[in-house]
Amino acid sequence: MANQQPCVLAVMAHPDDIEILCAGTLCRLRDLGWRVALATMTHGDCGSADLGPAEISAIRTAEAEASAARLGASYHCLDQLDLFVLFNEPTLKATVELLRQVRPDVLVTHSPQDYMLDHEQTSVLVRDAACGAPIKNVFTGAADPAAPLDHIPTLYYADPIEGLDALGNRITPGFYVDISATIDRKEQLLACHASQRDWLLKHHGIDEYLRSMRHWCEVRGAEVGVAYAEAFRQHLGHAYPADNVIGEALGALRP
Ligand SMILES: [Zn+2]
Repeated sequence: MANQQPCVLAVMAHPDDIEILCAGTLCRLRDLGWRVALATMTHGDCGSADLGPAEISAIRTAEAEASAARLGASYHCLDQLDLFVLFNEPTLKATVELLRQVRPDVLVTHSPQDYMLDHEQTSVLVRDAACGAPIKNVFTGAADPAAPLDHIPTLYYADPIEGLDALGNRITPGFYVDISATIDRKEQLLACHASQRDWLLKHHGIDEYLRSMRHWCEVRGAEVGVAYAEAFRQHLGHAYPADNVIGEALGALRP
């Protein structure tokens, strides 16, 4: 029952994290015919100064779905709450079940070191779920559980926000992907998150949301001599696949 096309699943904490950190690469993989799936831990319930959690969650879920549809991807949410994404048994089981349902060959998640704990907790949840999803005796408690995976998927970490850990230290990328051809599409996907864009536009008086994303890709691009790039590190610890699948598919760049 092997899938014809490889599948990449990006799992990040909040709606818009995927678009900011790795959507240019996902567009390129989609163009190669890969199956693409997006998942967020939360619905973004804290992402408004005016609206209550239920109201802003509904808006942001619709924005995430619109972005996924535009990318040609499925969208999934693990129904956690902003600021309360925690490495615990129920969330880990839900993450294992997500992996078993989507059945990715390749996973992309947050950097283990990032500016906020929702991102870091998501990173360890995905790392551990990748290891647990193939284990037959790991039961998720889902009503209609999917079969264990055949093996651990290849795991990548995107850049932390601004390329820095929580102490302000620079994180050195393992490799870069040229996204010059997909930067405009990446921007359109991020623009689907209109509630966040408008909020920053009102607050800053400039279109900081799209501008800062584009600027960061420009910074990473300049480090490898292309117009725009996204950077990644691969999880290469014991038992995780070591082939650089994304690098081989798209051409890994290094300074
Ligand atoms: Zn986030």
